[in-house]
Amino acid sequence: MYPVLRKSIFMTRSILLFLIFFQVLSPFANSQKLRKADKEIISELQADIGSLTNDKMEGRRSGTSGEALASDYIIGGFIKAGLKPLGDSGTYLQRFEIYDGRDITHTRFSINNADLILNTEFIPLPFSAIGKADGSPAIALQESGSPWFYDLKETVEAAQSNPHFDMDKLLREKTRLFEGKGATAVIFYNSSKTDDGIVFDPAEGIKPEKIPVLYVTKAGRKKYLRDISQSLDVVIDVQMLEKKRWGHNVIGFLDLGAPYTVVIGAHYDHLGYGEDGNSLYRGAEKKIHPGADDNASGTAALMELARLLKKTKNLRTNYLFIAFSGEESGLIGSKYFTEHPSVALSKISYMVNMDMVGRLNDSTHVLTIGGYGTSPQWATLINGTLNKKLFVLNADSSGTGPSDHTSFYLKNIPVLFFFTGIHPDYHKPTDQPDKINYVGEMEVIHLIYDITQKMDGMNKPVFVKTRDKQFGVSPAFNVTLGLMPDYSFSGSGLRIDAISEGRPAEKAGLKAGDIIIKLGDYSVISLQTYMEALSKFNRGDQTTVEFLRDKAEMKAAVQFK
Ligand SMILES: [Zn+2]
Repeated sequence: MYPVLRKSIFMTRSILLFLIFFQVLSPFANSQKLRKADKEIISELQADIGSLTNDKMEGRRSGTSGEALASDYIIGGFIKAGLKPLGDSGTYLQRFEIYDGRDITHTRFSINNADLILNTEFIPLPFSAIGKADGSPAIALQESGSPWFYDLKETVEAAQSNPHFDMDKLLREKTRLFEGKGATAVIFYNSSKTDDGIVFDPAEGIKPEKIPVLYVTKAGRKKYLRDISQSLDVVIDVQMLEKKRWGHNVIGFLDLGAPYTVVIGAHYDHLGYGEDGNSLYRGAEKKIHPGADDNASGTAALMELARLLKKTKNLRTNYLFIAFSGEESGLIGSKYFTEHPSVALSKISYMVNMDMVGRLNDSTHVLTIGGYGTSPQWATLINGTLNKKLFVLNADSSGTGPSDHTSFYLKNIPVLFFFTGIHPDYHKPTDQPDKINYVGEMEVIHLIYDITQKMDGMNKPVFVKTRDKQFGVSPAFNVTLGLMPDYSFSGSGLRIDAISEGRPAEKAGLKAGDIIIKLGDYSVISLQTYMEALSKFNRGDQTTVEFLRDKAEMKAAVQFK
């Protein structure tokens, strides 16, 4: 599950703890009543979740050797279940690219012919352009056609009283401003006693600015910038490498030669050691995030459904099983699949997504089914299938949400998303297999299986666009634009993945693919800066939005409702 939910999790934590307190702790209390077939399912789930959460897989971070071990395991399951490979060129794997920040390679900065020491006396900023600049600027004078020095003293001191201060954003804004005024490079330094916290964080690389940008450390400043009245001969050469990882979806096909195919999906990647900043663990010790519920549970359910459907006679629909990777980095794998489908999207009947299906609460019995509004058939079908003694239905009509079904919904495919709820172990090393409710997960699998059987051989269900929730917005915001950000976008700005009908973004003429760079007076560099900008507005406010469409800068008026 992608951590868009993060804000709301904090808000509901106390309620969650309350619910957990009352949870029945032994999921096997009624195991003697289970049928033999159900016992078999449960032991298979235990084996699969146990294997996928094994320390050897190191938390299954996409693009790592842990992911490779997990994909091998899933392929083994697909082969046993008799699925055909439907990934790249006859294999089960479909490879896609994940942006992995930037690495400094050969970067040089000299003042009056003396080379400064990289990392000790200076660093390039992660958003620096690759390239060279030189000149003989005066430290205190900023002239067009020359590198500029800039002292962050006042900014850093003023920022101390502002908890929302964003240094990265400020450095970028200054860089753009100076570049617009003719600076050929920017050299930041900080002469105040206050620490500015500036480091080279490769993950923040995203889209480079147009000119080289350096930061001179305290050590460098003491050595070279003591006298700010002087002019210096500077030579700058910034060289960096864009890093990439490769993630892999695992795709198996139960081909019955039918005209339509149902996609059943679950992501198998998780957070690894939490190196992508999406962990909620705050301890100092480096720990594996096993992701038993998120989403070894869904992956095990996927493998189980493959076994069950393979054994089912007289099916009249094909089933495509996809274990996605890159989900935790922003639904990258599922998005890649829908852009490079191995079954034509027009032939996909509907998509079932399972993300965190292992923690059915034995006292509340709440099962969330998302995408409920994406086909008019769903309500009748689910109400006629779901056993009300086992589940309390929490229907969520929206076709979008923090998991992979969103990618399919955005291609106008009806979706159903199964989710047993958030818990205090979410995105923490404590999301362990012994906390899985195996009986509950088996019941979820039965429900999904029953749904596929009722739908089998039916025409493709009618697709309906849902009245979408206010994408990615927490209650702290007074207004929304009604758009869904593209979480996989690594450039500067906020790229729009989808627009809600009848809401301010649509009325302003924004379209999917546009990149928002400014909202009112606030620059938009990332999702974070977009959220911050949005939080400044109230209902009824009018402002402007600046955006890029096919590289052309455009501007439109926005009216918040
Ligand atoms: Zn997750």
